[in-house]
Amino acid sequence: MVINNEVCIFAAMEKQVPNRTFLACILALGIFIFLPGRFLAQTPETHIEADGDQGGPDEEELFLFSAYHDSMGRLVPSYELYGLWDTLNIHPYKNLAAKGKDSALICLAYDHCDYFHPFAGIVTSDYGHRRSGYHFGIDIDLETGDTVRVAFDGKVRIAKRSKTYGNVVIVRHNNGLETTYAHLSKLMVKADQNLEAGDVLGLGGNTGRSTGSHLHFEVRYKGIPLDPNEIIDFKQFALKDNHYVIQPKSFNLYSESKKARYHTVKKGDTLSGIAKRYGTSVNKICKLNKISSKTIIKPGKKLRVS
Ligand SMILES: [Zn+2]
Repeated sequence: MVINNEVCIFAAMEKQVPNRTFLACILALGIFIFLPGRFLAQTPETHIEADGDQGGPDEEELFLFSAYHDSMGRLVPSYELYGLWDTLNIHPYKNLAAKGKDSALICLAYDHCDYFHPFAGIVTSDYGHRRSGYHFGIDIDLETGDTVRVAFDGKVRIAKRSKTYGNVVIVRHNNGLETTYAHLSKLMVKADQNLEAGDVLGLGGNTGRSTGSHLHFEVRYKGIPLDPNEIIDFKQFALKDNHYVIQPKSFNLYSESKKARYHTVKKGDTLSGIAKRYGTSVNKICKLNKISSKTIIKPGKKLRVS
């Protein structure tokens, strides 16, 4: 991918002028308001109504959506949407998730340099179903040591090592989304660090639960994974559109994954075998069924596996 730094720097400087952003966002909100009324009717939590004002959005409200101070006085992107800033836990939004009923308009970009493709490589595993379980991100092929860059402006929420993600960076963006960059060989940012789209956040690798160097990239809204293909063209390495409308169907895969699934024990089944088959762990199955890992599972018994 050819990177024209001069153009990007110039565009970044232009972004400092707020009026362009406001005008673009007002235009986008205008379009959103004219969308079917059900979007707004179902969404008391969308940013448009965040402060309870039922009138038309003004510039101040739009600014509050893009960045907000938390209780410590820190400037935290989309704080009013999330209500928390957790730099330790990868998935802290247990009760915030809209359970598939949320709708919102995400203003992704106003300028071509507001987005930077994290790594211009081939997709080796897509978002969606896997033979056992679900894949909530997109895997992009890379070599260990390749630079991985942040997709949008934002603030690093997580930069640490995790058992499954390996070295992982999660960035909260002003547009309301969070993006995840996993299996890195090296972290090059720290939590609370502000980034601009295109800044290097680490080097690609093969850490955590991973077989072969790749970047596992996720896009989440309030902790719920979205299909990155809806937002980004992974062949063109570019955004599909400047805006993205989150609808209840955007959460379909996640909702499906949360539904209870059962397995009827057959002769020869073991807990570890069942766990492997459903992409879960013995520990999780034991918790769901209130049994211990030493419990003998008899054929015919119904076990909850998710
Ligand atoms: Zn992956």
